[in-house]
Amino acid sequence: MNPKRLYLHTIGCQMNVYDSEQIAMQLAAVGYEQTASMDGADLIIVNTCTVRAKAEQKAFSLLGRLAKMKRHKKRLIIGVAGCVAQQEGQRIMERMPAVDLVFGTQAIDRLPHLIQQIEARRCRIVDVDMVVTPDIPESLVGSQDQSHVSKFVTIMRGCDNYCAYCVVPFVRGRETSRKPESIISEIKALVDNGVKEVTLLGQNVNSYGKNQDLCSFPELLAMINEIEGLSRIRFTTSHPKDLGPDLILAFRNIAKLCSHIHLPVQSGSNRVLKRMNRNYTREQYLDKVAELRDTCPQIAITSDIIVGFPGEGETDFEQTLQLVKTVQFDGLFAFQYSDRPPAPAVKLPEKISEAIISNRLQAVLAFQDKLTRSKNQQLVGSTQWVLTDGLSKKQAAGNPAGSNQELQWTGRTSTNKIVNFYVDESTADNQNLIGKLVGVHIDKGYSHSLSGRAINLEPSWRGLKGVENYAA
Ligand code: SAH
Ligand code: SF4
Repeated sequence: MNPKRLYLHTIGCQMNVYDSEQIAMQLAAVGYEQTASMDGADLIIVNTCTVRAKAEQKAFSLLGRLAKMKRHKKRLIIGVAGCVAQQEGQRIMERMPAVDLVFGTQAIDRLPHLIQQIEARRCRIVDVDMVVTPDIPESLVGSQDQSHVSKFVTIMRGCDNYCAYCVVPFVRGRETSRKPESIISEIKALVDNGVKEVTLLGQNVNSYGKNQDLCSFPELLAMINEIEGLSRIRFTTSHPKDLGPDLILAFRNIAKLCSHIHLPVQSGSNRVLKRMNRNYTREQYLDKVAELRDTCPQIAITSDIIVGFPGEGETDFEQTLQLVKTVQFDGLFAFQYSDRPPAPAVKLPEKISEAIISNRLQAVLAFQDKLTRSKNQQLVGSTQWVLTDGLSKKQAAGNPAGSNQELQWTGRTSTNKIVNFYVDESTADNQNLIGKLVGVHIDKGYSHSLSGRAINLEPSWRGLKGVENYAA
């Protein structure tokens, strides 16, 4: 019998990417094979995000297109997963009669059963129960997908911080950490399948293990560092209020930990930070940045800011801009504030107009774009150690800009910068560089990437401790 085909569309953060992999694994167990084409699918699942209004609109517009498709393909099963599913539940069924299944962020392990019921009875099901699963079931541990060098691993779910603008605590539930043994066995299984880099995911990894009698996050990092065959460790996200000295020191002491931290500041105004319920001040944030740079001078720091939080005055925004100029981030995501019920900020008065928000966004992004490009250009002439993920987009599209003999590869530095690089065929000896650390001489710096030429194809990844010392 032909396998049934699953098309998965993922919107939103890395946690959704990870959840989609879990969804695919669950469905493989009941005979579904993933396909890249929506047209040929028997089951289509849209994994949704509700953090900002735009992401939610994107999900509903895709569901609208799928509903039209189903008019000509009655057997098609349509499922909605993720944060919109969790939040809207039954309302999605009412709004979208074509949808067969709505399942929440904590229902993934019940998916095979739900799908089998729909296949057998053609019924419609909503499962948004918030049953806390403290750990990921054994059946889901260890991705079968061998083609990736870098993988996400969720180490904790949910969030207890209740930042005033944020819907995550309402759709992802209470903060719960996975046991270290389960995380480690998952990473070992990934490494056995060729993975070289893991990004540990949580809404606030700094509070890993809190109230659960587990080890601390820096202790977890130290254990993961011992896994043979793993080259690099990353994590996201880190809440500034909980970034302590132990974690800062980890950037110096844990050899495989990459020199990059994403540390969302959200605002540079103490008044706004207080109204956001962030529990740190601008001064405390700047002190942590200084401490990070003291401990690990090469560290790249990136951040998120929200522009137009209710009541954000001109002076508040000026303070955010000043902070951005002072810190000199390596990269910055600036979001327009959006009301996300039931987040408490929805009820705050003094909403900021679209026109003002758009001017403020432009001002901060114009500054950051110039800075990112100039930071990238400062790396011209240096050698960066790049973990190769595959052929560059240009090369994959069959449009190499180099000579006929050259292949262009792509990967990231320890500081998380994308590097596209050429390798002379004679030097490369046609070897597959995927998963290898390559020393690249940087020739050019752009806004979003660097480019250069491989100068060291030595298998220097053998002594991993040494390798990270070459990190940019
Ligand atoms: N847990 C992470 C972030 C999760 S959401 C943290 O605390 O940093 C990712 C980013 O989306 C946030 O950092 C914030 O900048 C943005 N965001 C969240 N809610 C938002 C809202 N209502 N409007 C605009 N941006 C928002
Ligand atoms: Fe949302 Fe704040 Fe939790 Fe991040 S820490 S997920 S911004 S509530």
